[in-house]
Amino acid sequence: MKTLLTRAKHLYDRYQYDALHYECRRCGYTLAQTRPTCPTCGSTEIATIPL
Ligand SMILES: [Zn+2]
Repeated sequence: MKTLLTRAKHLYDRYQYDALHYECRRCGYTLAQTRPTCPTCGSTEIATIPL
């Protein structure tokens, strides 16, 4: 039971980490991970947004 709770905690922590997303400031495209440029419009203005 303790093991299960520990595993749940790990998943929760990972979820928290994943609760960041990246959004292009120019076109609003949401990226699943950080990139130097927007794949849609090529802008380098990628904002990091904590959810
Ligand atoms: Zn863009």
